[in-house]
Amino acid sequence: MNYTVQQIAAITNAQVIGDGDLMIKNIAFDSRIIYSTKNTAFIAINTHKNSGEKFIESAIDRGIQVIISEHQYPQFENITWIIVENSVDFLQKLAKYHFEHSHLQSIGITGSNGKTILKEWLYQCLWNEFPTVKSPKSFNSQIGLPLSLLQINTSHTLGIFEVGISQPDEMENLENIFHPQIGLLTHIGTAHAANFSSEEELIDEKIKLFKDSQVIIYNGDHSLVSKKIKDLYSDKKLISYGLKKENQVFIKNNISKGENIVVEYFGQEISFPAHQRDEATLTNALALITVLKELHIENQKIVEKINTLKAVEMRLEAIEGIKGNIVINDSFNLDLDSLKTALQFLKEYNKPKKSLVLTDIVGVNTNSQELYEEVSELVNEQHFDSVFLIGDEISKFSELFKSKTYTFIDTKELIESKHLTELENQIILLKGARKFEIERLKDILELRKHDTVLEINLNAILHNINYHKSLLKPGTKMMAMVKANAYGLGSYEISEFLQHHHIDYLGVAFADEGAELRKKGITTPIVVMNPEQHSYQTIIDYNLEPEIYSFRVLDLFYEAVQKSGYDQKYPIHIKLETGMHRLGFKDFELDQLSETLDHKNLKVQSMFSHLSSSDVPEEKEFTLNQLETFEKNSSYLIEKLGYTPIRHILNSSGITSYTNYQYNMVRIGIGMLGESPSSEIQKQLQSVVSFKTVISQISLVENGESVGYSRKYKTDHQTRIATIPVGYADGIPRLIGNQIGKLGVHKTLAPIVGNICMDMMMLNVDNIPNVKEGDTVTIFNAYPSLKEFAAYCKTITYEVLTSISPRVKRIYIKD
Ligand SMILES: *Cc1c(COP(=O)(O)O)cnc(C)c1O
Repeated sequence: MNYTVQQIAAITNAQVIGDGDLMIKNIAFDSRIIYSTKNTAFIAINTHKNSGEKFIESAIDRGIQVIISEHQYPQFENITWIIVENSVDFLQKLAKYHFEHSHLQSIGITGSNGKTILKEWLYQCLWNEFPTVKSPKSFNSQIGLPLSLLQINTSHTLGIFEVGISQPDEMENLENIFHPQIGLLTHIGTAHAANFSSEEELIDEKIKLFKDSQVIIYNGDHSLVSKKIKDLYSDKKLISYGLKKENQVFIKNNISKGENIVVEYFGQEISFPAHQRDEATLTNALALITVLKELHIENQKIVEKINTLKAVEMRLEAIEGIKGNIVINDSFNLDLDSLKTALQFLKEYNKPKKSLVLTDIVGVNTNSQELYEEVSELVNEQHFDSVFLIGDEISKFSELFKSKTYTFIDTKELIESKHLTELENQIILLKGARKFEIERLKDILELRKHDTVLEINLNAILHNINYHKSLLKPGTKMMAMVKANAYGLGSYEISEFLQHHHIDYLGVAFADEGAELRKKGITTPIVVMNPEQHSYQTIIDYNLEPEIYSFRVLDLFYEAVQKSGYDQKYPIHIKLETGMHRLGFKDFELDQLSETLDHKNLKVQSMFSHLSSSDVPEEKEFTLNQLETFEKNSSYLIEKLGYTPIRHILNSSGITSYTNYQYNMVRIGIGMLGESPSSEIQKQLQSVVSFKTVISQISLVENGESVGYSRKYKTDHQTRIATIPVGYADGIPRLIGNQIGKLGVHKTLAPIVGNICMDMMMLNVDNIPNVKEGDTVTIFNAYPSLKEFAAYCKTITYEVLTSISPRVKRIYIKD
């Protein structure tokens, strides 16, 4: 969206206090995840459970200047207020207006199960056919849907939105805001049915979404759904899909044989290989095909797209477990239908023994005796060897289950019982309502493919960025440095996360790094710090912005711009030399620089310099000198240029130690990874990177024996030595062998003994009681910390991170 405060107020009948001309492009509703404050308004959403107004202060602290709220709080100065009667109504009115004035083709998905999967699948198939916008995550409610619709911008031509209801009469309201041209109805079942008196009432409510649709694509396996749709919408184009052959789109052949699935679509056959053949997946595939056909995608392309679909990670993941087990994890939601689906999914696997973990079913409005009778019947049909029931409710009915049955109050009690870790060579189904957090069982049962991992906590990155932002003035922009593969952590994954949180700029070292990000879909402006002379064409092709540090680079780059036929002012970033003596224009070059720029069709987007010693308190005087030179030279250049580009000079430790020199932007690097030279600030930051592995073997080495190459370590008594599968080829410097470096085992530091090998090293674990093979070893995270580890290596944290070999698996964690 793109409206002024005044326009928003006019659309929604709200009252403006403050600057009505401010432009708003985003509405933030969660003060913890505000990232960019530019053109962003914060809405304090009041629901019957919660008042968003208590977060206004924290939004303002983060630099938000426009607040949408039911009340004004005059203690906050210089804030523009949009005062609304009801925050939820406001959001819906604005979304309705915005949707109705967009020119999208729209798909609306509703139903009980499968909405999010279908939305994600459709998006995966369609984003490169049409500029497409979709609901984030499963934003589908009275608040989620409007927020999703507000993401539509003028470039989009297709929108895919989920619509979910859990109460009678909710759909009418949502349909008033959003009336999709193509309506898609997925499976109707018992999810969210608790508040409806009958299934019929639930169906009636859901299908109200299609009141103004031109086409309705629906799962026709449910006879009541089929009848209702035909009765109510006989004037529309109706297409039914499903496993039953009466549907217009169905599967022709026998799905239980291994051959390709053949779909019949109005006399055409579409055939594709399928790995997952449970009913829910195949039914979703039918829905997908029907929508793609409706959008005129050719059959061959449809098959190609189906083959590359990624599993939507929410339910029914099958994982290799410890002790030869297979773990089916479906901890996303629990109702009778999803239980049936999961039980059906089990049949795909050939294991003689099966176990089930099942929790209370929450939020279903039937009599529990009846409910659990039905559950136990379904379960008994499967002949599980053991059944583990978690929760008070379900435990009351344990006699209904015919297998060996155990009951637990909560997940923790089951974990502590150790029953699960005794299971061997079984298929284990984990099926639980979300509140029981049974995904914790998955962690225990999962066989980790990679013993050695670099775990990167994205939430901690966000925390660290927000901490640095909290020191800055509202509105100061931030560039995140993602050069050198984002300090070794993975430039795409980190950039994607930062982009999602609206970082203003990304900084890379070389053009190739920027091109790689663009190819993977990063659209945030990217500055190339080291534009090599052979890379100018790449820079222009991928819409990257070069650092210009000398006349030679300026002339060559300009030549490339002209050759490429680029006819607008190309954005560049001028680097000024202020004392680092690396790259940059010097004082005596400024006149010539401004003259040269005068003649060229280039736009100085920013001017910047770099501090050599912001992290060295003893060099404060030198740093202040650099800052003064920057102030003087950049002001001089601005005067000559006649316009004012962004200025920036602070890196992470600059932000914390020289905050007053933030100008309009700062460049964060190591600080977002949770490292600061100041111990005070270090306490405020969260550790992002955890490098860990597991013990491969423990040996009892006799007195006087030696360990490792060249016999550099000799025991002086019988000693327990642990071998771990990490060596100098993984980026551990060989110089920390021979008891210089120590690694964390059971919260104790164990010295590395002997020489480090290429792929392994040995630790003395003699003083660690109960240590055993398979235990985790922390190379660094908290104990030792990254900083301590860097000290063993006689280097800085930056070099430690960028030296970790690409063969170490990077794993990203976020909520
Ligand atoms: C790498 C880099 C930064 C970030 O430095 P940190 O010390 O990691 O914050 C900032 N500016 C420039 C020009 C850089 O190259």
